[in-house]
Amino acid sequence: MKKEIAITAYKCKQCGKIHYPYHDRCLVCKGREFEKMKPEGDAHLLTYTAIFNLPWGFDQRFLIIGVAEFENHVKAMGQIKVDSVDQLKTGMKVRPSWEPIRVQYGENVYGLKFEPIE
Ligand SMILES: [Zn+2]
Repeated sequence: MKKEIAITAYKCKQCGKIHYPYHDRCLVCKGREFEKMKPEGDAHLLTYTAIFNLPWGFDQRFLIIGVAEFENHVKAMGQIKVDSVDQLKTGMKVRPSWEPIRVQYGENVYGLKFEPIE
């Protein structure tokens, strides 16, 4: 079963700036009131990188991670399901999913993953 993406972003009620993760005050207008929103639709990749020194709990040698922007402009970071950064380019469409990303104390820890769809 496909899990819901457990991310909540916060849209400033004054200026509309979307924050994820949460900030006490809007980074643009310093407003303090936010409307909660969920990421929607597919996303496109803004930036990506490979990281090689992983914390305990990951069994991969390295991870490819990226920041992507959803159709409703929420931006979030996640793992990208590719073997090499050579398979990626900025702006490409990716499909988000909420999946186990590591094991901690014998339990799956869920997080955001992206899969290129073009
Ligand atoms: Zn604002």
